[in-house]
Amino acid sequence: MMKQFGVIGHPIAHSLSPLMHNTAFALLGLDCTYQACDVPGGALADALEGFKCEEFVGLNVTIPHKEAVLDLLDEVDPEAGAIGAVNTIAFQVGGLIGHNTDAYGVLKSLEPYRDQIVGGTALLLGAGGSARAVSYVLLTHFFPSELVIANRSEQRAQDLAAQCKALSANTTINAMSLADSKVRQIIERSSLVINATSVGMTPSVDESPIHDDVPFHTGQIVMDLIYTPLETNFLKIASGRGARTISGLEMFLYQGARSFEIWTGQQMPVDRIRSVLAQRLKTNRV
Ligand code: NDP
Repeated sequence: MMKQFGVIGHPIAHSLSPLMHNTAFALLGLDCTYQACDVPGGALADALEGFKCEEFVGLNVTIPHKEAVLDLLDEVDPEAGAIGAVNTIAFQVGGLIGHNTDAYGVLKSLEPYRDQIVGGTALLLGAGGSARAVSYVLLTHFFPSELVIANRSEQRAQDLAAQCKALSANTTINAMSLADSKVRQIIERSSLVINATSVGMTPSVDESPIHDDVPFHTGQIVMDLIYTPLETNFLKIASGRGARTISGLEMFLYQGARSFEIWTGQQMPVDRIRSVLAQRLKTNRV
């Protein structure tokens, strides 16, 4: 019987996850199919029961369910529990097991730049669900000397910073409003700047989480979690000032590859899938 997989979220129609996983299944000759399933907030518990009845094997979980889903699972792996968000569910004999593969996506995206990140200042813009995975990975794998979290809602940044302090005694952790004038000084001394806000995403491609003359510079790593568009305005400004940039496509690819491995036990052919997704994004068919 063909094995069924999917992604649940709302809205979900433009997700690239079906293209990624169905291409990988075809390349590896697996009898599996992956679909996008629109599940509005409030419909999550019933939807999960339905997927169980239909004998789904795996699901990805995206906005707005990544946090709410934790209470509906039989088991949550320790990393997902520490982050407080699940983006991957494996349907197993013992029940529903939750994982967070966003963390692996961040880890793989930043790994090539480890030497520049360790011991430096990291600035994280945003304090939502994905920012939690980013801060977890920074503190547990890259050990910056300083982590600053800047968010539109300062209280949300303070709350995330408080959680982060429990993860690391050796990193100085601060929180501030995204509108604080000190953000510019922090950019100047940062070895890593990550945009984990949704500002700049299609269709608002001319926007950027930091306005005006952003003091990016050579020797800095600048990552955007957004992958529609492939090169955000934020990354264009950074690259124009000589910084090394990382598109959200890397994180997207590797979180998907890790989910794929959890479900199938096989490696996703990442390089071939990257070309397929980049082509789709370049032709603006998303
Ligand atoms: P959340 O809704 O949990 O968080 C959104 C964040 O963006 C919050 O920090 C929010 O600030 C901020 N924000 C939203 N609108 C504005 C605005 N107008 N001005 C300033 N800040 C704003 O979303 P996620 O954390 O799940 O996702 C964030 C981004 O990361 C999205 O673009 C998403 O597509 C991308 N992403 C990419 C992934 C990948 O694999 N590449 C994986 C996961 C997410 P506030 O708290 O004040 O509301």
